[in-house]
Amino acid sequence: MATKKVKSTGRFGARYGIKIRKRVRDIEAVQKKKSMCPYCSRVAVRRKSYGIWTCSKCGKTFTGKAYIPR
Ligand SMILES: [Zn+2]
Repeated sequence: MATKKVKSTGRFGARYGIKIRKRVRDIEAVQKKKSMCPYCSRVAVRRKSYGIWTCSKCGKTFTGKAYIPR
């Protein structure tokens, strides 16, 4: 259940504490939205797997941070 306060992490209910849920929410927001490709500069990069990012425009697959493509 998504809530106003913690958005997608509302599914955790009142567990784990607000700080952790907010951190998870920020990470999940980055995962869902597309990021900018460092090769073609288009916003088409999606997280494929842990630390693996793929650009759907130029087809490049590259490694980045686990949660943020860089
Ligand atoms: Zn690209």
